[in-house]
Amino acid sequence: AYVIAEPCIDVMDRACVEECPVDCIYEGGRALYIHPDECVDCGACEPVCPVEAIFYEDDVPDQWGEYVTDNAHFFADT
Ligand code: SF4
Repeated sequence: AYVIAEPCIDVMDRACVEECPVDCIYEGGRALYIHPDECVDCGACEPVCPVEAIFYEDDVPDQWGEYVTDNAHFFADT
């Protein structure tokens, strides 16, 4: 699945939401989250993010690695 990392916090541009063909990008309090089980790995969201917050899970920069589990936890807790 794709993952939304730190640059999204307090930005939430939502350009990705428009692009996602399966509507699996959801709004949290301060950032957007991709549902890891619903994402079909199409990659459509990644290039439209104005702050480059979206990465394929294996390509998330090391300093934002925690966002992979954060995205999953967001859906586990709700
Ligand atoms: Fe949606 Fe595709 Fe992005 Fe996954 S990779 S969140 S399916 S636009």
